[in-house]
Amino acid sequence: MVTIKSKKEIELMKEVGKVVAKLYEKLEKEIKPGMTTLELDELAERTMKELGAEPAQKGYDPGIRGVPKFPSSICVSINDEVIHGIPSKYKVIQEGDIVSVDTVALKNGYNGDAARTFAVGKVSKEAQRLIDVTKQSFYEGIKYAKPGYRIGDISHAIGEYVHSQGYSVIREFQGHGIGKEMHEDPGIPNYGKAGRGLRLEPGMTLAIEPMVIQGKPNILELDDGWTIVTEDASLAAHYENTVLITENEPKILTII
Ligand code: MG
Repeated sequence: MVTIKSKKEIELMKEVGKVVAKLYEKLEKEIKPGMTTLELDELAERTMKELGAEPAQKGYDPGIRGVPKFPSSICVSINDEVIHGIPSKYKVIQEGDIVSVDTVALKNGYNGDAARTFAVGKVSKEAQRLIDVTKQSFYEGIKYAKPGYRIGDISHAIGEYVHSQGYSVIREFQGHGIGKEMHEDPGIPNYGKAGRGLRLEPGMTLAIEPMVIQGKPNILELDDGWTIVTEDASLAAHYENTVLITENEPKILTII
């Protein structure tokens, strides 16, 4: 179901959005070579709690037989891992890694969702370009995140930009509406035809999230039931914000 948020609900969405924004300011400062992804996870959980929120992903049940509940507070995906990496005390972040973090915070019954790919230490030029293109593709998409356009306009703009830069988007996962539920309608693919899909209206809140691969778009799921990696072992990056549709320009809720 697509939900249109009331004024009151929008205030609550802004509040949880700020939690996610502050969390990323903290993680960006603290992420370092030698840190394990579990340490990053623990820092994220502590920070969310200090900000009065809960990690919504912890214990998330995908409702797929045989797939365990997500055990951690954030997803941490390194290099060729695209999304849904599970933090571990055995996974040490190395100089030169690109590390994608995806977080959903829950406060006062509302969810805020954002993802960033961090360059740890000095990364290759090509890795930095992938991070930059992924972020820019989000901004290309939200040029159409306003009344008068449709979901397909956002999807098309993201996909076209990514492809024009020589990269791929994954097709199996997509952005989504967000509010009381972490995942609400509509789905927001990162490719597609302009002029198609749901018409955008003020009060919609959308998690728009390009997941971009350096090489071919094919992905694999690891045996842990969660981690998604690129099939050709090329690098992947992720950039996401929760966005409010207004009468005019969109408002990004997960950046302060
Ligand atoms: Mg997310």
